[in-house]
This record gives sequence, C-alpha cells and structure tokens, in this order.
Amino acid sequence: MLSALEQYDPQIYELLKQEKARQSGSLRLIPSENYVSRAVMQACGSCLTNKYAEGYPGKRYYEGQQVTDLIEMLATERAKKIFKADHANVQSYSGSVANVAAYAALLEPGDTIMGLSLPFGGHLTHGWKASMTSKVYNSVQYEVDPETGRFDYNKIEELAKKHRPKMIISGATAYPREIDFEIFGNIAKSVGAYHLSDIAHISGLVVANIHKSPVPYADIVSTTTHKTLRGPRGGMLLCKAEYAKNIDRAVFPGLQGGPHMHTLTAIAVALNEADTPEFIGYAKQVVKNAKALADKLLEFGFDLVSGGTDNHLILIDLRSKDVPGKKLAKALDRAKIVTNYNTVPCDPRPPFDPSGLRIGTPAVTTRGMKEPQMEQIAGFINRIADNIDNDTVIEQIGKEVLMLCSHFPVPGHFIIPPKNSHINGGD
Ligand SMILES: *Cc1c(COP(=O)(O)O)cnc(C)c1O
Repeated sequence: MLSALEQYDPQIYELLKQEKARQSGSLRLIPSENYVSRAVMQACGSCLTNKYAEGYPGKRYYEGQQVTDLIEMLATERAKKIFKADHANVQSYSGSVANVAAYAALLEPGDTIMGLSLPFGGHLTHGWKASMTSKVYNSVQYEVDPETGRFDYNKIEELAKKHRPKMIISGATAYPREIDFEIFGNIAKSVGAYHLSDIAHISGLVVANIHKSPVPYADIVSTTTHKTLRGPRGGMLLCKAEYAKNIDRAVFPGLQGGPHMHTLTAIAVALNEADTPEFIGYAKQVVKNAKALADKLLEFGFDLVSGGTDNHLILIDLRSKDVPGKKLAKALDRAKIVTNYNTVPCDPRPPFDPSGLRIGTPAVTTRGMKEPQMEQIAGFINRIADNIDNDTVIEQIGKEVLMLCSHFPVPGHFIIPPKNSHINGGD
C-alpha cells in the first residue's frame, strides 16, 4: 500500500514508517485511541477521497453519485440498525462538529446549554469557556461530586431547575463510571429542555449492550466513530424521527460542505464490523481489562477517581503518590507507554500540569491483550511511578514493553491479519 509513497515521497514514507513502528512498539493507553482494521484503513485510503457529494442521497448538488448514494445509504442503515435509532446522519467531520450541529439543529444563539465542566471530565464542546460553544450559547456547567467522583443527579437537577437550560448534555470525556441516561432524560423533561447525549467515548460499549443506550432517553445522540467504536476519525448523529430534518440541515448546509466520502465509507465498514459477535466480545474484554488494570493499580496503592471503573477508562489521582501527572506521563512515554495527563475533580494544580493520569484499554484490547497483560502493565506503571527519576529503570521497562508488544501484533498493520487478531477473523 505504501510503495507509491516510498517512490514519490520518501520523506513522508519514512515518517509513516516511524509512526507505524511507534504504534506497534508501544502500549497505547490513551482511552480515546484505538487501532482500526485493515478493511477500515483500505476504505479510508480509497478512491472515495476523490468525490464531492454535497447534499444527501438522492438530493446532491453534483452529478456522479451512482456509488456514493449507495454507500451513504448503507452507512446510515447500519448506524440505525446497531444503535436502534430512528434516524442517523453519518456526515459530521468529527465529534466536535456533530455536537455543534446538534445545538444548531434545536437551539438559537443565546439559548442556555448545560454540560459537564471540562476539568471535571466534560468535553470542550459542552460549553467550556475556551470553546465557541460558550460564546454562542449561554453556558451553565455541572460538576461531579468531589467526594465520590460521580454524578450527583440531585445536584444536577437542582442546577437545571435554577437555570432552566434549553438543552442538557449528558456524556463525558473522562468519567470512569456508567452514566444513567434515563435520569438525565427525566431531568431534561422536567425543565422542558432537550437532552443531547454525547457517547463519543463509550459508543462501542453501547453497541455491545454493556452500557445502557441513551437512544430511548435522548432527543439527539452524538458520537465519534474512532474511539471504542473502532472506526475512522469522524462523527455521527442519531435522533428521533421528528428531528431528522433539523439534524440533516444543521450538518449540511448549516455547518459543512461536502462530506468526506472516504471517511464515510470507512465508517460504513466499521459499523458492519461492530455488528458482529466478535465486536461484542471485544467490547466486553475492553471493560474486563479496564477492571483488571484498575484492581491491580489499587493493590499498588494508587488512588482512582470514583474508586475504580465501569467502562474503558481509569482516572488516576496521583496526589497520594506525590508525582505530578505530566511528569509521570512523560516518564511513561520514555518507556513506550503512551497516556495522557488529566485533571482530577477539584484539582489544586493547573490544567497543563494537573494531578491526574488518564488511561484506557480500547487499543491494547484490540491487540488481543487480556487480564494477565493488564496486571503486567499496572506493574510497569507502578515501577515507573516509584522510580520517576531513574533513567536506568525506565529504559529497562521500555525493553520489557517492547517484548510484550512483540507478542501482540497490531491487526490493522497487516494485509493478512495475524492469528490472535480480534479484527477480520482470529479468535
Ligand atoms: C472526543 C470527544 C469529542 C470530540 O471528538 P473530535 O472527533 O475530537 O472532535 C466530543 N465529545 C466527547 C465527549 C469526546 O470525548
């Protein structure tokens, strides 16, 4: 696949080779990252990148849509099927654009939105002050309970009653527990607000029925396609039939021009993969792995926000270990363990140098790793935290990481996926 690149752009070819080696020779624990299948990569790198398709199937502004219409209809049908939704829009360029489209579909500028505050686990687009969403809309932010690290639904309801938002957003970027979307739906109803549920992180768990779906309880559901759902980078919107027109108009022509048809095609492939028993097995293992990793970290004396996890991610509060999040993330990266530093609820430290570390299991699970490997990874993290300034130890762990990775090849990096692959066959 890279031979033309090798010939015509050796500089980029060399860099891609380096990135491929990095992806296979490191433990990627960033909870929003994954490895797509070879099939998804092929669709993404296909001739569909050459096609303009402004509009929707049957209503395009350019000719030559014989194939694109069929692809988009397939993608839409597959999305509706696996999420059991009335309507799906698969054109959003990203999760952020999908959220803005959801606002544009049902709100007027100046209306009040209420979402989870970013330092407490929310996303920028949920009304954080640095985001356009807080400038166009009047933003009210809720937080998690600082004691439990969990939502206090009564407090959220009180805040909703006080501010009477036009839309309440459920969903998070760094929340390790299952979210009760039914309660969020009821709170929204009680104040006459729309309910937008953003399942960017957990959509793979929702498809696999591990977490309860928000579809029955939300007016609109938004998601990315590249996190636990394991597709190409993109966004998607699901909604009740009554909002279908508003949603479609908000995405195009409201916010976007032509959809990225190569991405949309790869989304169709990923949705098909998600509709298999293998994917359900994968998603279950993601959660089992996260629990195994969390349990071992607790044994090593780490503090975890909320005391553990129900999903694919873990938020470590490092204050008890006296190691700042950024320092640990940098040391881990030197040992080829890739994580991200993160704020913890009521973090006394600034956001660019916070007290927490966020880790997750979607990518390592795609490589076929299970509970024993999670215990090993917890051991690596513990040793590095204990030897944060010891380069010899960090280098030694880097070698052990490489050894572990060599036993779990990345499925999408091979034309014929390796035997232990959870994608395109294997067990
Ligand atoms: C990742 C994420 C998004 C944004 O996705 P992008 O594709 O990066 O724009 C939106 N909402 C939540 C909750 C997320 O975690």
